[in-house]
Amino acid sequence: MDKIIYLDNNATTKIDERVLEKMLPYLTNLYANPSSMHEFGGNLAKAIVNAREQIKEFVGAENKSEITFTSCATESSNIAIRGALEINKNKKHIITTKVEHPAVLNTYKWYEKRGYDVTYLSVNSEGELDLDELKEEIRQDTALVSIMWANNETGVIFPVEKISKIIKDKNPKTLFFVDGVQAAGKIPINVADTNIDFLSLSGHKFHAPKGVGALFVKKGILLPPLMFGGHQENGLRPGTENVASIVGMGEAGMLAKEYLKEENSVVKALRDDLEKGLLSRIPNARLNGSKANRVPNTSNMSFEYIEGELILLHLSDAGICASSGSACTSGSLEPSHVLKAMGIPFTALHGSVRFSLSRFTTKDEIDFVIEKVPSIIKRLNSFSPYQKELKKLEDMRFYEK
Ligand code: PLP
Repeated sequence: MDKIIYLDNNATTKIDERVLEKMLPYLTNLYANPSSMHEFGGNLAKAIVNAREQIKEFVGAENKSEITFTSCATESSNIAIRGALEINKNKKHIITTKVEHPAVLNTYKWYEKRGYDVTYLSVNSEGELDLDELKEEIRQDTALVSIMWANNETGVIFPVEKISKIIKDKNPKTLFFVDGVQAAGKIPINVADTNIDFLSLSGHKFHAPKGVGALFVKKGILLPPLMFGGHQENGLRPGTENVASIVGMGEAGMLAKEYLKEENSVVKALRDDLEKGLLSRIPNARLNGSKANRVPNTSNMSFEYIEGELILLHLSDAGICASSGSACTSGSLEPSHVLKAMGIPFTALHGSVRFSLSRFTTKDEIDFVIEKVPSIIKRLNSFSPYQKELKKLEDMRFYEK
């Protein structure tokens, strides 16, 4: 393939060259074990301390001891959820949402099979929560509320600060876990101000490598580990540290903080151009999720009456990388559980495509996509069995103009 236009940054991102540069010495000459007593190892231990300080800054934690490095956000989330339920063993109620990532949802399905009562909060057609419903559902035996900060498929942001206030006002003993994976680097995060107990992060979503994550655990909460082993990461995540990737994640966190303004101006403007360009040229295109209340890089669109998977294959042939649903559910041909929860009509549910940009996306790339996608959709429309319905949409657009 000559040219790749990568609009799948919610699945994973490219490593920033500055991140790679910081990592390289730890993949070559600085290979000692950070737990060793010699100075060689001590220097690596210092590099981990520095990365912990950077991630503390990135999420606005009060103390770097609140940050634990893991292998990915799935691991971070499992440590938080399973640990929180372990220290609250006598409470068997969990509240979460219908639109969480499988890394979290499947953990609750597992607990449900083991006798836990799990409340799945619904969302409206814009993908937003009803905070009164949340308030009503919190009980004396609610051990944990688990709500993501930003949705990976639609980019819709949940009001984490308001949510934590509702939880702590109604039951101060209920713990609050936030999957922060898709918020990190896209909107400001400050865990100290928002009264969150646990936050999970994934390095590869903000230009660090795959295979490294972090977990924030509020000071004073003592979680049991998932695995038993050495003393690394205060015993919460034993095993010799992945020093190079931890160093990379720290650096990527600092860069993400620096680029937050650009993300919300330049990247957002490109995303908005893409949407405007496609919606005005394609009669059967529609936007999914709240237009205003979204992270700046994500656009979830449906092309009604045609199949999303087919669209992705044709986009791929043109060198355009996009997604339908999350990487963990794609391939299953099941429609997105997020769009289903939003009540998106059947005819649009199967034709959804997520475009997700990054600070490396260029105007030329977006212009190319705006030029290319309408002809791809036009061709696919001609194979659709819903010709009458498509004609109706085209006529409606004609009269709107
Ligand atoms: N949570 C959300 C919202 C995600 O988007 C993802 C990855 O797509 C994860 C969790 C899992 O992250 P990881 O790949 O680091 O396990």
